[in-house]
Amino acid sequence: MAIKQKRFMLAESDIPTRWYNIQAEMLNKPAPMLNPKTKEPVTVEELSKLISLQAARQELNFTDAWIDIPEPVLDMYRYYRSTPLVRAYGLEKALGTPAHIYFKNESASPIGSHKLNSALPQAYYCKEEGATNITTETGAGQWGCALSYASKVFGLECAVYQVKISYEQKPYRRSVMQAFGAQVTPSPSMSTRAGKDILTKYPNHQGSLGTAISEAVELALTTPGCKYSLGSVMSHVSLHQTIIGLEAELQMQMAGEYPDVVIGCFGGGSNFSGIAFPFMRHNIAGERATRFVAAEPESCPKLTRGKFCYDFGDESGYTPLMPMYSLGHNFKPANIHAGGLRYHGAGVVVSQLLKDKLMEAVDVSQLSSFEAGLLFAKSEGIVPAPESCHAIAAAIEEAKQCIPTGEEKVILFCLSGHGLMDMSAYDQFISGSLGNYTISDADIMKNVANL
Ligand SMILES: *Cc1c(COP(=O)(O)O)cnc(C)c1O
Repeated sequence: MAIKQKRFMLAESDIPTRWYNIQAEMLNKPAPMLNPKTKEPVTVEELSKLISLQAARQELNFTDAWIDIPEPVLDMYRYYRSTPLVRAYGLEKALGTPAHIYFKNESASPIGSHKLNSALPQAYYCKEEGATNITTETGAGQWGCALSYASKVFGLECAVYQVKISYEQKPYRRSVMQAFGAQVTPSPSMSTRAGKDILTKYPNHQGSLGTAISEAVELALTTPGCKYSLGSVMSHVSLHQTIIGLEAELQMQMAGEYPDVVIGCFGGGSNFSGIAFPFMRHNIAGERATRFVAAEPESCPKLTRGKFCYDFGDESGYTPLMPMYSLGHNFKPANIHAGGLRYHGAGVVVSQLLKDKLMEAVDVSQLSSFEAGLLFAKSEGIVPAPESCHAIAAAIEEAKQCIPTGEEKVILFCLSGHGLMDMSAYDQFISGSLGNYTISDADIMKNVANL
């Protein structure tokens, strides 16, 4: 009997050595990010006060389609890359679909998600440019874990502000950050002026990404040798994540197929961009007509129901104004378990691509995401992150459409992380105590009205 190959891996020497910068090849470039005070386009110099100079340059690079991955970063990538491309025979069988389903398994990274792909270069650039410290915010903690480890690798002190309610309710990711030597502070805290102001006004504030960003930004701006770092939304983060799709393209060649549809879950867009952009370049060049689908939560539907406008990236209004699909920077998403998808905006590149119909978006309810995740767990043996369950639900939907038609559609999705630290969410789903959160048009209108 012929052996059906299930898992496709690259030799170390075949791992891509450059990232793909879609900004250089987009026919319609995104409108510029604006300085909120002057309303002028932000410059590399302004950005580099906060983030590393290299990251700032990449953020505003609209000319170079390919950017070399620094050798010390490649050297770290080689510990866990390539990640496996897997043909999901088990899921196909469970669905009874003629579709060919593939997933790119980013949960195989040491910290269990794709976030390390950008944490490593960001920490490396900071160190190279002479920084001694790095700081960031984290919600559920995936980004904080990635940056804590990357900081340890490159010899930086890392301070993470974690949303207080997550710090208390989800202690294990905090333990992971501390295991890597990071200093983790629940936000709001008394260690910054921003935190003190919030606590004076609201002594029982449970924290939000907005409070944590404000504290991390303040620490970076007031501490010599300290840089700030972001885990999603920004173009340089998406750039670093293209290693996912560049590998997947080579691995699909090994499988002898090319995807008809590429799917990623969508929080701030980094894993979606990472798997999609390398394939999208062939659409831009007119060589392919692949579909790209971003799967967002029904309770935080910026792509499917948000407004395209200039908005801040954070709750407090510290970031540049970004032209993007948004639900408003004051939008308070429901407390769904897919914490990484609870973000109000979509980033400038993906927003422009969606506007130009180079990609599509779908929304997924919390219950259908967990249902999809459990089917995947039972048929493939990996418990997916609650975020990744959204991509799985969208992939299953595509695969089901093939049942009546017999179409052997080739579906590729990104498994952005595993869910082994999110088992309390699965417990709740299995015991029937999870619900859905919908949001009315009126509520969305109210939030975006004054943007
Ligand atoms: C952070 C995170 C996400 C969402 O972030 P994106 O930038 O949209 O990719 C999705 N999945 C996992 C596992 C995450 O940790």
